[in-house]
Amino acid sequence: MLNWKGILLAGVILTGQVFAGDSMIVRFDLTDSMKKYLKVNDFDVTGVNYQTMEIEAHLTSSELDQIISQNTTIKFSFPESLVAGPDIEYKNPDEIESFLNEVHSRYPLITEIKSIGRTLEGRNILAMKISDNVREDEVEPALLVNAMHHAREVMTPEITTDMIEYLTSHYGKNSEVTNWVNGTEIWVIPMFNLDGNNKMWTEDSMWRKNTRNGHGVDLNRNYPSGWNTCNGSSSETYSQSYRGEAPASEPETQAMMRLVAAIKPVFNISYHSYSEIVIYPFGCRPLKTPTEEAVESIGAELAKKIDYKPGTAWELLYNADGGDIDWMYTEHQVIPYVIEVNSTFQGFHPSFKKWRDKTVLRNRPGWMHLLNKLQGPSLQGRVDKNEFSQIKIFKAGNSSVTQTYKINPDGSYYIILKPGNYDVIFEGIRTKVFSNISVNSIKTFNF
Ligand SMILES: [Zn+2]
Repeated sequence: MLNWKGILLAGVILTGQVFAGDSMIVRFDLTDSMKKYLKVNDFDVTGVNYQTMEIEAHLTSSELDQIISQNTTIKFSFPESLVAGPDIEYKNPDEIESFLNEVHSRYPLITEIKSIGRTLEGRNILAMKISDNVREDEVEPALLVNAMHHAREVMTPEITTDMIEYLTSHYGKNSEVTNWVNGTEIWVIPMFNLDGNNKMWTEDSMWRKNTRNGHGVDLNRNYPSGWNTCNGSSSETYSQSYRGEAPASEPETQAMMRLVAAIKPVFNISYHSYSEIVIYPFGCRPLKTPTEEAVESIGAELAKKIDYKPGTAWELLYNADGGDIDWMYTEHQVIPYVIEVNSTFQGFHPSFKKWRDKTVLRNRPGWMHLLNKLQGPSLQGRVDKNEFSQIKIFKAGNSSVTQTYKINPDGSYYIILKPGNYDVIFEGIRTKVFSNISVNSIKTFNF
Protein backbone atom coordinates (compact mmCIF):
# COMPACT_ATOMS: atom_id res chain seq x y z
CA MET A 1 0.00 0.00 0.00
CA LEU A 2 1.09 3.51 -0.73
CA ASN A 3 2.04 5.28 2.47
CA TRP A 4 1.93 9.04 2.98
CA LYS A 5 5.55 9.44 1.96
CA GLY A 6 4.68 7.73 -1.27
CA ILE A 7 1.76 10.05 -1.71
CA LEU A 8 4.03 13.04 -1.21
CA LEU A 9 6.26 11.66 -3.96
CA ALA A 10 3.19 10.96 -6.06
CA GLY A 11 2.53 14.66 -6.27
CA VAL A 12 0.26 15.99 -3.56
CA ILE A 13 0.66 19.74 -3.56
CA LEU A 14 2.68 20.87 -0.58
CA THR A 15 2.42 24.33 0.86
CA GLY A 16 5.45 23.95 3.10
CA GLN A 17 7.69 21.34 4.65
CA VAL A 18 7.28 18.45 7.03
CA PHE A 19 8.65 19.65 10.33
CA ALA A 20 11.04 17.89 12.62
CA GLY A 21 10.09 15.09 14.99
CA ASP A 22 8.20 12.92 12.53
CA SER A 23 4.98 14.86 12.84
CA MET A 24 3.07 17.32 10.72
CA ILE A 25 -0.09 19.34 10.38
CA VAL A 26 -2.52 17.74 7.96
CA ARG A 27 -5.61 19.40 6.56
CA PHE A 28 -8.90 17.66 5.70
CA ASP A 29 -12.30 18.72 4.43
CA LEU A 30 -14.42 19.92 7.35
CA THR A 31 -17.25 17.41 7.36
CA ASP A 32 -19.22 16.02 10.29
CA SER A 33 -17.82 12.58 9.60
CA MET A 34 -14.22 13.86 9.54
CA LYS A 35 -14.69 15.79 12.79
CA LYS A 36 -16.10 12.66 14.35
CA TYR A 37 -13.41 10.39 12.96
CA LEU A 38 -10.58 12.56 14.26
CA LYS A 39 -12.24 12.92 17.65
CA VAL A 40 -13.15 9.25 18.11
CA ASN A 41 -9.57 8.30 17.35
CA ASP A 42 -8.35 10.91 19.84
CA PHE A 43 -6.11 12.67 17.32
CA ASP A 44 -4.67 16.10 18.10
CA VAL A 45 -7.13 18.34 16.27
CA THR A 46 -5.50 21.75 16.11
CA GLY A 47 -8.04 23.99 14.40
CA VAL A 48 -10.78 24.55 11.86
CA ASN A 49 -11.30 27.06 9.08
CA TYR A 50 -14.88 28.07 8.32
CA GLN A 51 -13.77 30.16 5.32
CA THR A 52 -12.22 27.25 3.49
CA MET A 53 -14.26 24.57 5.32
CA GLU A 54 -11.21 22.61 6.42
CA ILE A 55 -10.04 20.98 9.63
CA GLU A 56 -6.45 20.39 10.72
CA ALA A 57 -4.75 17.87 12.96
CA HIS A 58 -1.22 17.42 14.24
CA LEU A 59 -0.27 13.84 13.37
CA THR A 60 2.62 11.46 13.57
CA SER A 61 3.47 9.53 10.42
CA SER A 62 1.93 6.34 11.82
CA GLU A 63 -1.30 8.16 12.65
CA LEU A 64 -1.31 9.52 9.13
CA ASP A 65 -0.75 6.01 7.74
CA GLN A 66 -3.80 4.90 9.72
CA ILE A 67 -5.94 7.69 8.28
CA ILE A 68 -4.78 7.11 4.73
CA SER A 69 -5.68 3.44 5.04
CA GLN A 70 -9.29 4.69 5.49
CA ASN A 71 -9.17 6.22 1.99
CA THR A 72 -9.61 9.68 3.40
CA THR A 73 -8.88 12.68 1.22
CA ILE A 74 -6.02 14.59 2.75
CA LYS A 75 -4.42 17.95 2.08
CA PHE A 76 -1.06 18.60 3.62
CA SER A 77 -0.60 21.91 5.31
CA PHE A 78 2.49 23.31 6.90
CA PRO A 79 2.10 26.73 8.45
CA GLU A 80 5.44 28.34 7.74
CA SER A 81 6.71 28.84 11.27
CA LEU A 82 5.76 25.43 12.67
CA VAL A 83 8.89 24.06 11.12
CA ALA A 84 11.20 26.11 13.30
CA GLY A 85 8.95 26.60 16.34
CA PRO A 86 7.74 29.95 17.62
CA ASP A 87 9.58 33.20 17.02
CA ILE A 88 11.72 34.21 19.97
CA GLU A 89 9.77 37.49 20.35
CA TYR A 90 6.82 35.59 21.84
CA LYS A 91 6.90 35.68 25.63
CA ASN A 92 8.04 33.05 28.11
CA PRO A 93 6.98 32.93 31.80
CA ASP A 94 9.89 35.12 32.99
CA GLU A 95 9.14 37.75 30.39
CA ILE A 96 5.50 37.84 31.49
CA GLU A 97 6.60 38.51 35.06
CA SER A 98 9.02 41.27 34.01
CA PHE A 99 6.31 42.82 31.85
CA LEU A 100 3.87 42.95 34.77
CA ASN A 101 6.47 44.41 37.14
CA GLU A 102 7.39 47.04 34.61
CA VAL A 103 3.75 48.06 33.98
CA HIS A 104 3.06 48.19 37.72
CA SER A 105 6.07 50.44 38.32
CA ARG A 106 4.80 52.84 35.65
CA TYR A 107 1.15 52.80 36.79
CA PRO A 108 1.13 51.90 40.50
CA LEU A 109 -2.16 53.69 41.22
CA ILE A 110 -4.32 51.67 38.86
CA THR A 111 -2.57 48.28 38.82
CA GLU A 112 -1.90 45.52 41.26
CA ILE A 113 -0.09 42.19 40.72
CA LYS A 114 -1.53 39.20 42.54
CA SER A 115 -0.41 35.60 42.65
CA ILE A 116 -3.56 33.50 42.32
CA GLY A 117 -1.71 30.28 43.19
CA ARG A 118 1.23 28.16 42.17
CA THR A 119 1.68 25.77 39.29
CA LEU A 120 2.69 22.15 39.77
CA GLU A 121 6.35 23.15 39.36
CA GLY A 122 5.94 26.02 41.81
CA ARG A 123 5.69 29.03 39.51
CA ASN A 124 3.44 31.88 40.66
CA ILE A 125 0.41 32.27 38.42
CA LEU A 126 0.16 36.04 38.18
CA ALA A 127 -2.89 38.19 37.60
CA MET A 128 -2.98 41.92 37.11
CA LYS A 129 -5.93 43.85 38.49
CA ILE A 130 -6.60 47.17 36.77
CA SER A 131 -9.01 49.62 38.39
CA ASP A 132 -9.13 52.93 40.19
CA ASN A 133 -8.82 52.43 43.97
CA VAL A 134 -7.16 49.22 42.89
CA ARG A 135 -6.46 47.95 46.41
CA GLU A 136 -10.15 48.15 47.36
CA ASP A 137 -12.88 45.69 46.48
CA GLU A 138 -15.43 48.17 45.16
CA VAL A 139 -19.01 47.50 44.10
CA GLU A 140 -18.05 47.37 40.45
CA PRO A 141 -18.65 44.70 37.82
CA ALA A 142 -15.59 42.61 36.92
CA LEU A 143 -14.20 41.34 33.64
CA LEU A 144 -11.76 38.43 33.78
CA VAL A 145 -9.47 37.74 30.84
CA ASN A 146 -6.99 34.87 30.69
CA ALA A 147 -4.65 33.44 28.10
CA MET A 148 -2.87 30.20 27.47
CA HIS A 149 -4.60 27.28 29.08
CA HIS A 150 -2.66 25.56 26.28
CA ALA A 151 1.10 26.00 26.22
CA ARG A 152 1.77 26.16 22.47
CA GLU A 153 -0.79 28.93 21.82
CA VAL A 154 1.85 31.66 21.95
CA MET A 155 -0.23 34.44 20.40
CA THR A 156 -2.68 34.44 23.32
CA PRO A 157 -0.46 36.22 25.90
CA GLU A 158 0.12 38.87 23.25
CA ILE A 159 -3.61 39.68 23.39
CA THR A 160 -3.63 39.91 27.18
CA THR A 161 -0.42 41.92 27.49
CA ASP A 162 -1.63 44.26 24.74
CA MET A 163 -4.84 44.77 26.70
CA ILE A 164 -2.87 45.63 29.86
CA GLU A 165 -0.61 47.98 27.92
CA TYR A 166 -3.52 49.68 26.17
CA LEU A 167 -5.65 50.22 29.26
CA THR A 168 -2.87 51.50 31.49
CA SER A 169 -1.24 53.79 28.90
CA HIS A 170 -4.57 55.38 27.85
CA TYR A 171 -5.92 55.89 31.37
CA GLY A 172 -6.53 59.59 32.08
CA LYS A 173 -5.98 60.42 28.41
CA ASN A 174 -8.82 58.63 26.65
CA SER A 175 -12.27 59.07 28.24
CA GLU A 176 -13.54 55.64 27.19
CA VAL A 177 -10.58 53.89 28.84
CA THR A 178 -10.78 56.12 31.90
CA ASN A 179 -14.46 55.22 32.33
CA TRP A 180 -13.74 51.51 32.00
CA VAL A 181 -10.94 51.60 34.56
CA ASN A 182 -12.90 53.78 36.99
CA GLY A 183 -16.19 51.94 36.67
CA THR A 184 -15.13 48.30 36.49
CA GLU A 185 -12.60 45.86 37.91
CA ILE A 186 -10.47 44.31 35.20
CA TRP A 187 -8.53 41.14 35.97
CA VAL A 188 -6.03 39.78 33.48
CA ILE A 189 -4.10 36.52 33.75
CA PRO A 190 -1.64 37.06 30.91
CA MET A 191 -0.28 33.49 30.92
CA PHE A 192 -2.02 30.67 32.78
CA ASN A 193 -0.15 27.46 31.89
CA LEU A 194 3.34 28.60 32.85
CA ASP A 195 4.95 25.16 33.28
CA GLY A 196 3.60 23.99 29.94
CA ASN A 197 4.87 27.12 28.22
CA ASN A 198 8.33 26.64 29.71
CA LYS A 199 8.32 23.10 28.34
CA MET A 200 7.12 24.39 24.99
CA TRP A 201 10.18 26.67 24.78
CA THR A 202 12.72 24.18 26.11
CA GLU A 203 11.61 20.72 24.93
CA ASP A 204 8.66 20.48 22.56
CA SER A 205 7.29 23.35 20.51
CA MET A 206 3.94 21.53 20.11
CA TRP A 207 3.42 21.05 23.89
CA ARG A 208 -0.18 21.76 24.99
CA LYS A 209 -0.85 20.45 28.52
CA ASN A 210 0.68 21.18 31.92
CA THR A 211 3.63 18.98 32.93
CA ARG A 212 2.04 16.48 35.37
CA ASN A 213 4.22 13.33 35.55
CA GLY A 214 5.84 14.15 32.22
CA HIS A 215 2.66 13.40 30.26
CA GLY A 216 0.67 16.43 31.41
CA VAL A 217 -3.02 17.16 31.93
CA ASP A 218 -5.16 19.23 29.57
CA LEU A 219 -6.08 22.06 31.94
CA ASN A 220 -9.11 22.91 29.86
CA ARG A 221 -10.61 19.44 30.37
CA ASN A 222 -9.94 19.41 34.11
CA TYR A 223 -12.74 21.66 35.47
CA PRO A 224 -15.47 19.96 37.53
CA SER A 225 -18.60 20.96 35.57
CA GLY A 226 -19.40 18.15 33.20
CA TRP A 227 -16.00 16.53 33.80
CA ASN A 228 -15.82 13.31 31.76
CA THR A 229 -19.48 13.35 30.73
CA CYS A 230 -19.68 13.34 26.92
CA ASN A 231 -16.48 11.82 25.48
CA GLY A 232 -15.21 15.37 25.28
CA SER A 233 -11.85 14.47 26.83
CA SER A 234 -9.60 11.45 27.24
CA SER A 235 -8.66 9.05 30.04
CA GLU A 236 -5.36 8.22 28.29
CA THR A 237 -2.40 10.06 29.76
CA TYR A 238 -0.71 10.42 26.37
CA SER A 239 -3.76 12.11 24.83
CA GLN A 240 -3.65 15.84 24.14
CA SER A 241 -7.04 16.08 25.86
CA TYR A 242 -6.19 13.98 28.94
CA ARG A 243 -8.60 15.18 31.60
CA GLY A 244 -6.54 14.26 34.69
CA GLU A 245 -7.22 11.76 37.46
CA ALA A 246 -10.07 13.67 39.04
CA PRO A 247 -12.04 16.88 38.56
CA ALA A 248 -9.84 19.88 39.45
CA SER A 249 -6.88 17.60 40.16
CA GLU A 250 -4.45 20.26 38.92
CA PRO A 251 -3.22 23.18 41.04
CA GLU A 252 -3.62 25.54 38.08
CA THR A 253 -7.31 24.62 37.73
CA GLN A 254 -7.79 25.13 41.47
CA ALA A 255 -6.14 28.55 41.32
CA MET A 256 -8.49 29.70 38.57
CA MET A 257 -11.49 28.38 40.48
CA ARG A 258 -10.48 30.23 43.66
CA LEU A 259 -10.05 33.49 41.77
CA VAL A 260 -13.41 33.23 39.99
CA ALA A 261 -15.18 32.41 43.25
CA ALA A 262 -13.55 35.42 44.91
CA ILE A 263 -14.07 38.07 42.22
CA LYS A 264 -17.35 36.82 40.66
CA PRO A 265 -16.68 38.23 37.20
CA VAL A 266 -19.64 39.18 35.03
CA PHE A 267 -17.74 38.24 31.88
CA ASN A 268 -14.73 36.07 31.11
CA ILE A 269 -12.65 35.63 27.99
CA SER A 270 -10.26 32.70 27.73
CA TYR A 271 -7.94 33.22 24.76
CA HIS A 272 -6.86 30.19 22.75
CA SER A 273 -5.58 29.58 19.24
CA TYR A 274 -6.41 28.87 16.44
CA SER A 275 -9.65 28.88 14.32
CA GLU A 276 -11.08 32.44 14.41
CA ILE A 277 -14.11 31.39 16.42
CA VAL A 278 -15.92 32.53 19.57
CA ILE A 279 -17.12 29.64 21.74
CA TYR A 280 -19.76 29.83 24.46
CA PRO A 281 -21.18 27.11 26.78
CA PHE A 282 -21.99 24.28 26.75
CA GLY A 283 -19.35 21.88 25.47
CA CYS A 284 -21.57 18.78 25.33
CA ARG A 285 -24.08 18.12 22.56
CA PRO A 286 -26.94 19.18 22.59
CA LEU A 287 -26.73 21.48 25.61
CA LYS A 288 -27.34 25.21 25.21
CA THR A 289 -27.62 28.08 27.65
CA PRO A 290 -30.79 30.20 27.70
CA THR A 291 -30.14 32.58 24.83
CA GLU A 292 -32.51 35.47 25.26
CA GLU A 293 -30.55 38.00 27.28
CA ALA A 294 -27.04 36.93 27.68
CA VAL A 295 -24.62 34.26 26.60
CA GLU A 296 -25.44 33.60 22.96
CA SER A 297 -26.64 37.05 21.95
CA ILE A 298 -23.64 38.83 23.45
CA GLY A 299 -21.39 36.09 22.04
CA ALA A 300 -22.76 36.81 18.58
CA GLU A 301 -22.18 40.56 19.04
CA LEU A 302 -18.64 39.92 20.24
CA ALA A 303 -17.93 37.63 17.28
CA LYS A 304 -19.22 40.25 14.87
CA LYS A 305 -16.89 42.88 16.34
CA ILE A 306 -13.85 40.79 15.44
CA ASP A 307 -15.32 38.97 12.43
CA TYR A 308 -15.04 35.49 13.99
CA LYS A 309 -17.68 32.75 13.92
CA PRO A 310 -19.72 32.16 17.12
CA GLY A 311 -21.12 28.88 18.46
CA THR A 312 -20.81 26.17 21.07
CA ALA A 313 -17.82 23.82 20.98
CA TRP A 314 -20.02 20.98 19.75
CA GLU A 315 -21.46 23.12 16.96
CA LEU A 316 -18.12 24.46 15.74
CA LEU A 317 -15.78 21.60 16.64
CA TYR A 318 -16.82 18.59 18.71
CA ASN A 319 -17.80 17.75 22.28
CA ALA A 320 -15.50 19.19 24.93
CA ASP A 321 -16.10 18.44 28.62
CA GLY A 322 -14.46 19.83 31.74
CA GLY A 323 -13.75 23.21 30.14
CA ASP A 324 -13.39 26.42 32.12
CA ILE A 325 -16.30 28.29 30.56
CA ASP A 326 -18.86 25.61 31.38
CA TRP A 327 -17.71 25.64 34.99
CA MET A 328 -17.74 29.45 35.24
CA TYR A 329 -21.25 29.63 33.81
CA THR A 330 -22.68 26.79 35.87
CA GLU A 331 -21.10 27.57 39.23
CA HIS A 332 -20.74 31.35 39.17
CA GLN A 333 -23.18 32.61 36.50
CA VAL A 334 -20.29 34.16 34.58
CA ILE A 335 -20.99 34.96 30.92
CA PRO A 336 -17.87 33.29 29.55
CA TYR A 337 -16.25 32.98 26.14
CA VAL A 338 -13.36 31.16 24.55
CA ILE A 339 -11.86 33.12 21.68
CA GLU A 340 -9.65 31.13 19.30
CA VAL A 341 -7.37 33.68 17.62
CA ASN A 342 -5.61 33.25 14.24
CA SER A 343 -6.55 31.09 11.30
CA THR A 344 -5.28 27.83 9.88
CA PHE A 345 -3.00 29.90 7.66
CA GLN A 346 -1.16 31.13 10.74
CA GLY A 347 -1.41 28.12 13.03
CA PHE A 348 0.01 28.08 16.55
CA HIS A 349 3.22 29.91 15.76
CA PRO A 350 2.63 32.69 13.26
CA SER A 351 5.47 34.98 12.27
CA PHE A 352 5.67 37.54 15.09
CA LYS A 353 6.60 40.32 12.73
CA LYS A 354 3.81 39.60 10.30
CA TRP A 355 0.95 38.64 12.61
CA ARG A 356 1.41 39.85 16.20
CA ASP A 357 0.21 43.43 15.75
CA LYS A 358 -2.52 42.48 13.29
CA THR A 359 -3.91 39.88 15.68
CA VAL A 360 -3.93 42.02 18.83
CA LEU A 361 -5.48 44.95 16.95
CA ARG A 362 -8.17 42.76 15.46
CA ASN A 363 -9.04 41.43 18.91
CA ARG A 364 -9.27 44.76 20.75
CA PRO A 365 -12.91 45.45 19.78
CA GLY A 366 -13.81 42.08 21.35
CA TRP A 367 -12.73 42.75 24.92
CA MET A 368 -13.71 46.41 24.54
CA HIS A 369 -17.23 45.32 23.71
CA LEU A 370 -17.52 43.47 27.03
CA LEU A 371 -16.18 46.48 28.96
CA ASN A 372 -18.83 48.62 27.27
CA LYS A 373 -21.50 46.07 28.17
CA LEU A 374 -20.49 46.32 31.85
CA GLN A 375 -21.37 49.99 31.72
CA GLY A 376 -24.44 49.61 29.53
CA PRO A 377 -28.05 48.56 30.21
CA SER A 378 -27.94 46.54 33.42
CA LEU A 379 -29.07 46.21 37.01
CA GLN A 380 -26.19 46.77 39.44
CA GLY A 381 -25.95 47.41 43.13
CA ARG A 382 -25.73 45.86 46.55
CA VAL A 383 -28.50 44.71 48.86
CA ASP A 384 -28.53 43.20 52.35
CA LYS A 385 -27.07 39.73 51.81
CA ASN A 386 -28.92 38.37 54.85
CA GLU A 387 -32.31 39.37 53.46
CA PHE A 388 -32.06 38.74 49.75
CA SER A 389 -30.67 35.76 47.85
CA GLN A 390 -31.92 36.01 44.27
CA ILE A 391 -33.41 38.31 41.68
CA LYS A 392 -36.04 37.31 39.14
CA ILE A 393 -36.37 39.36 36.01
CA PHE A 394 -39.38 39.38 33.69
CA LYS A 395 -40.02 41.27 30.47
CA ALA A 396 -42.50 43.90 31.63
CA GLY A 397 -46.02 42.52 31.60
CA ASN A 398 -44.84 39.04 30.62
CA SER A 399 -45.19 36.32 33.23
CA SER A 400 -42.34 34.09 32.03
CA VAL A 401 -39.03 34.60 33.82
CA THR A 402 -36.29 36.01 31.61
CA GLN A 403 -33.56 35.32 34.08
CA THR A 404 -33.03 34.18 37.66
CA TYR A 405 -29.87 35.66 39.15
CA LYS A 406 -28.20 34.50 42.36
CA ILE A 407 -27.08 37.46 44.45
CA ASN A 408 -23.33 37.36 45.22
CA PRO A 409 -22.21 36.43 48.76
CA ASP A 410 -21.41 40.09 49.50
CA GLY A 411 -24.90 41.20 48.41
CA SER A 412 -23.75 42.65 45.09
CA TYR A 413 -25.44 41.92 41.78
CA TYR A 414 -24.62 42.74 38.15
CA ILE A 415 -27.20 41.75 35.55
CA ILE A 416 -26.58 42.66 31.91
CA LEU A 417 -29.84 43.22 30.01
CA LYS A 418 -31.02 44.25 26.59
CA PRO A 419 -32.49 47.76 26.66
CA GLY A 420 -36.18 47.59 27.57
CA ASN A 421 -38.73 47.49 30.34
CA TYR A 422 -38.62 44.84 33.05
CA ASP A 423 -40.40 43.66 36.16
CA VAL A 424 -37.82 42.88 38.82
CA ILE A 425 -38.34 40.87 42.02
CA PHE A 426 -35.72 40.67 44.78
CA GLU A 427 -36.37 37.49 46.77
CA GLY A 428 -35.18 36.02 50.07
CA ILE A 429 -36.48 36.42 53.60
CA ARG A 430 -38.09 39.58 52.27
CA THR A 431 -39.46 40.33 48.82
CA LYS A 432 -39.25 43.60 46.92
CA VAL A 433 -41.01 44.11 43.62
CA PHE A 434 -40.26 46.78 41.04
CA SER A 435 -42.65 46.93 38.11
CA ASN A 436 -42.08 48.20 34.61
CA ILE A 437 -38.55 49.45 35.21
CA SER A 438 -36.99 51.05 32.17
CA VAL A 439 -33.41 49.78 31.71
CA ASN A 440 -31.44 51.77 29.15
CA SER A 441 -28.31 52.35 31.20
CA ILE A 442 -27.05 51.17 34.62
CA LYS A 443 -30.03 50.97 36.98
CA THR A 444 -29.18 50.73 40.68
CA PHE A 445 -31.19 49.46 43.64
CA ASN A 446 -29.48 49.45 47.03
CA PHE A 447 -31.38 48.52 50.17
ZN1 LIG B 1 -6.39 26.01 23.39
